[in-house]
Amino acid sequence: MNVTVLRLGHRFSRDARISTHLALTARAFGAERIVYDVEDTAVRRSVDDITASWGGDFAVEFTKSWRKYVSGFDGVSVHLTMYGLPVGEIVPKVLKDNGNVLVIVGGAKVPSDVYGLVDYNVGVGSQPHSEVAALAVFLDRLFDGGELSKEFNGKIRVIPQKRGKKVVESD
Ligand code: SAM
Repeated sequence: MNVTVLRLGHRFSRDARISTHLALTARAFGAERIVYDVEDTAVRRSVDDITASWGGDFAVEFTKSWRKYVSGFDGVSVHLTMYGLPVGEIVPKVLKDNGNVLVIVGGAKVPSDVYGLVDYNVGVGSQPHSEVAALAVFLDRLFDGGELSKEFNGKIRVIPQKRGKKVVESD
């Protein structure tokens, strides 16, 4: 399964931190790439720096037309929204397809036509929270927890400890 995350509504200085966190969450929870609807090279630089040290092939991309990106996507598209159908109901349907998955998350405001463009509108509960939380829970359900033991083969690797920090670094 190949997962792409599309983040709508990025605002440069205001959203830089959460947009970066969203990319890091997508990467850590098994997605292959994140696509933003606004080009922000500062966000790409900070995510690329993490990937260079911590491994994997995660890509940060931009689209000038997110609607064309969604309608031309070759696979199943899912929009995470508190108004959608329960995640537990929809994930088995997405898994049946076993192909590419596009996961769309919003920011402050989501254009209303996104609801009609996707295959599924999915709620991670029906309470308002955050795109980062919604993405993490959705991906964890999709990969059934397996993404947490993914091997990234990075220059930096954490050796889990009961207490304290142990990190191995290689060239
Ligand atoms: N009122 C906004 C709206 O138009 O949906 C809420 C925006 S919320 C701060 C940012 C994003 O988090 C949403 O666009 C959605 O992708 C995600 N999100 C928040 N709560 C969610 C939930 N319960 N289930 C799924 N996604 C959620």
